[in-house]
Amino acid sequence: MIKPHGGRLINRYVKTGSVAPLRGLPRVRLSEVALSDLYNIADGTFSPLTGFMRGPELGDVINRNKVNGVPWTIPVVLDADKAAVNGLKKGKSIALEGDDGKVVARMELEDIYTHKKDEYALKVFGTRDRRHPGVNLAYEMKEYLLGGKVHVFRKQDNVKNYLSPLEVRKIITDKGYKSVAGFQTRNVLHRAHEYLQRCALEHVDGLFLQPIIGWKKKGDFTADAIIKAYREFISDYYPGNRVVFGTLKTAMRYAGPKEAVFHAIIRKNFGCTHFIVGRDHAGVGGYYGKYEAHDIFDKIGDVGINILKFKEPLYCKKCDLVVTEKTCGHGPEYHQEISGTLVRKIIKNGHQPKHKIFRPEVYKILLKEFKRKHLFY
Ligand SMILES: [Zn+2]
Repeated sequence: MIKPHGGRLINRYVKTGSVAPLRGLPRVRLSEVALSDLYNIADGTFSPLTGFMRGPELGDVINRNKVNGVPWTIPVVLDADKAAVNGLKKGKSIALEGDDGKVVARMELEDIYTHKKDEYALKVFGTRDRRHPGVNLAYEMKEYLLGGKVHVFRKQDNVKNYLSPLEVRKIITDKGYKSVAGFQTRNVLHRAHEYLQRCALEHVDGLFLQPIIGWKKKGDFTADAIIKAYREFISDYYPGNRVVFGTLKTAMRYAGPKEAVFHAIIRKNFGCTHFIVGRDHAGVGGYYGKYEAHDIFDKIGDVGINILKFKEPLYCKKCDLVVTEKTCGHGPEYHQEISGTLVRKIIKNGHQPKHKIFRPEVYKILLKEFKRKHLFY
């Protein structure tokens, strides 16, 4: 079994009885994004992180792509406004509460620092353009950041199809997989995804399909639509003993190559030996090059998971197959693009995507379960 990032799987859950009394501690309310990341720290999804990043750690991440000496590319931070920060002291504990006002964790407050949003945006996303959804989200954060270890004593509830890293690792052991490829998505699956997944399955013992269901930009598919479509597709088409399905609740950052590294590290923590990276992974608009998310793995040092780099799958009219530039000799005039953006656009406009790029069965599932407008955020 592959080791988690940094060597061991972090567990920051504690029993209620074992936390120091929380009464009287100053309270900080978590945003939706921070709350889901608190749980990702707690269950080891973000190993080796044990808390929200302190100033020097954030500096290491955005300037050197490292945390605790291992590769790491995406900040995991807790933001707070001036009123919340007033009266807080470094070295003391604070209580973290969810949006229902219930305390979920204690944090050892090790650092309070200013959120330098321009630098953050430029170094993480490569742009300060607020039309970029990840950049906009960063600018909407509050003006201070709090760092320190967390002790979490309430489990996350109501996350559909959630499996923890420990649970997925147990499934991998029980099924006897020697190799597992992780697949990241924020879309309902189309034929290009299917092509990549089947190619990977030819190569490895198991496939771990894990869509992101946290915060996403307006216009993306809803979590329910993705889950429903995947579950039905898997049971109707894939060999059940070779596919594991679970969801990952964290925000999409749309940080392209840096987020590809982040996504790979997360799947390593779930026990994957391989990770699939296609065209413009976690990209948005035209901010990143088509294969920048491939190239970053050559620059960043060993992440400790095998990266399966795939060229863009296209439908070729002449081959009458889904192909890539590596497997088909025909020119662009024969090629039809297959992308989540295209599929969403066709469905939003009230049409059914052609079966060569999108399975009619998946389209039927979506329309049976959801009104068209409820398919998207
Ligand atoms: Zn062809």
